[in-house]
Formats: sequence, C-alpha cells, structure tokens
Amino acid sequence: MTEVRDVVIIGSGPAGLTAAIYTSRALLAPLVIEGEPSSTSDQPGGQLMLTTEVENFPGFVNGIMGPELMSTFREQASRFGTEYVTAKVSGVDLSSRPFSLWVGDPDTPEPTYHARSLIIATGARSLMLNLPDEERLLGYGVSTCATCDGFFFRDRDVAVIGGGDSALEEALFLTRFARSVTIVHRRDTLRASKVMQHRAHNHPAITFRWNSVVEEVLGDNTVSGVTLRDTITDARSVLDISGLFVAIGHEPNTALFKGQIELEENGYIRTFDGSRTSVDGVFACGDVQDHEYRQAITAAGSGCMAAIDAERWLEEQADD
Ligand code: NAP
Repeated sequence: MTEVRDVVIIGSGPAGLTAAIYTSRALLAPLVIEGEPSSTSDQPGGQLMLTTEVENFPGFVNGIMGPELMSTFREQASRFGTEYVTAKVSGVDLSSRPFSLWVGDPDTPEPTYHARSLIIATGARSLMLNLPDEERLLGYGVSTCATCDGFFFRDRDVAVIGGGDSALEEALFLTRFARSVTIVHRRDTLRASKVMQHRAHNHPAITFRWNSVVEEVLGDNTVSGVTLRDTITDARSVLDISGLFVAIGHEPNTALFKGQIELEENGYIRTFDGSRTSVDGVFACGDVQDHEYRQAITAAGSGCMAAIDAERWLEEQADD
C-alpha cells in the first residue's frame, strides 16, 4: 500500500521550500518532490538556480548567489525533517482524497505517493529565444528579470526583446540604470497597452529596432552584443550591448493539473482566500499562481501562506 503523507509539496523554488520550512516546523513531515537537474542547472530549485547574484532578497546585506540562496532554504527545511525526492511528478489525480501522485510511469496503477493535502509550487518559466548562446550566457548578461538584474547594468547599453507590456515595463525600468535601452521587436506594431507605448516612445533613453529578430548572442564570458536580422530586408547587423533582457512572456508550469483544477484564462492557477484552489485540500503558491509580482520574496511569502492554510485545513479535517 502507498503511504499517505499529510503534506506533499511539488516544487523546490522559494515558494515550495518556504512551505516546507513552515510545514516541517508544524511537525507535518512534508515530502518535497523537488524536480530534477536541468540542462542549465545541476540541481533543482527553480528559477533562482539560473540567476547569479541576488541583491534584493532581504537579509543579505551584500547579496547572495541564487543557487546558494536556494541551498540555504533547502538545508533549513531539512533541519526540521523535510524529506526530498529528486524527481519530477509525472501525473496527479485530484479527483478524490487522499490525492494520488505518480513519479516515473504515470500509467502505473498504484500511485507513488498519496497526500492528504497538496501544495503546488511548480513555478513558471520565462519563454526564451532558444538560441544556443542565450542559455550559456544566462546570468552573464542574458537576463529575464530587469527588477533582479537591472542594477548590474549601470551606464551600459542594453537591449530588451519583445513588444508586449513586459518588454516595455522592463525597458522603462532599465532606463534607471542603463545608458541606452534598445527595444528589439519582430514586427512594427507593439502589443503593449497604449499607456506603456506612450511612455516608452517618449523616453529619451529608449530606441526601437522594428522588424528585427536576434539571430546570435555574442560574447565569450559575458554578453558583448547580438546579431540582428531585419525580417523585411534580411540584412544583418551587430548591436553592441552588455545586457540582453528577454521579455517575450512567461508560461506557468501547470500542464500536470489541466482539467483537474481551475486555471485563470492565462493558464495560471486560480487562488482565493490566501492559497486555496478550486480543489479542497490543494493549495498553490509562488509563480504558478502569480503573474504579477514574480519575485523570490513574494514567492516565499506565498509559500508561508500555503503552509499555514494547509496546516489549518488538516486540523479542520481532523476535527470533523
Ligand atoms: P505578451 O503580451 O504575450 O507579449 C510577448 C511579446 O513578445 C509580443 O510582442 C511577441 O511578439 C513577442 N514574442 C513572443 N515570442 C517571441 C519570439 N520567439 N521572438 C521574438 N519576440 C517574441 O507577454 P507579456 O508582455 O509578458 O505580457 C503577458 C500579459 O501580462 C499581458 O496580458 C500583459 O498585458 C500583462 N502584463 C501587464 C503589465 C502591466 O500592466 N504593467 C506588465 C507586464 C505584463 P508579437 O507581438 O509579434 O506576438
């Protein structure tokens, strides 16, 4: 028989691991299914594993490297009895309680884990251009977060890729630091809201490269430029920059839960009353349910909420 756990947490970014710290200190012996190493990181741990220095996480006066921050979260949760499984969840059944989870072959009749309550902290991923050197230089000039990394580009020339609200917001934020910001867009019309367009068009530090796509990211150890291709003339040109901000959208990691839990129109998990979801006993925290703030500290805060919500919910069940 598969053992029934009080709390299973899927995901090991700041949200999942904060939920683990809180639920383990509540003596709920959580199991974290933490994911697997990826091509860009030799450990699971979410988007911070792809970041270099983090300077805005409170408590670290001189900043901390993203992977080091995540390993301190992990150790802290471990100290109170959190157990980890380094694997990806391949299937879930949320139609009855205890919930069923599979790791490995999802067609195996017996689930790998049963959970009385489930905390989903599977995060989101930034859409990338999928260029070979983009991945290599991620954290070394290539970034997906101006709020996180803009500060490192004081008096430098940077480019932002995309034509939506995210791209324009990133570009406007970057003007606080960068000498120049070039918005590279694949068409000649922006998708962003009119107000953002107005602000970007009127900012003296922002220029646009229309009908242009990045073909190559240049630089040995850090970004030194990009090769652009004009989609109308096919002409190639080099844009010298030290920062490349990719802002072409995000995708929440919700594929596992489609059809089983209510999602927002944009694919993020719908939460209400804190971290509750449409399925009683299932809680969601971090970027998988937040398309607005997307910060490590907000993810950690919502992980704390999910842990407290799950703990209270389990107590209510025990009282019934
Ligand atoms: P988005 O609206 O989907 O825009 C993505 C942009 O990236 C589009 O301009 C798209 O070009 C471009 N793009 C997509 N794939 C590309 C590729 N492979 N190569 C080059 N360019 C590519 O995404 P978003 O800007 O992240 O916004 C998501 C949602 O959040 C939107 O509803 C937005 O309004 C909202 N949001 C709001 C705010 C705010 O109100 N402050 C801030 C951020 C986001 P095309 O236009 O040609 O498709």
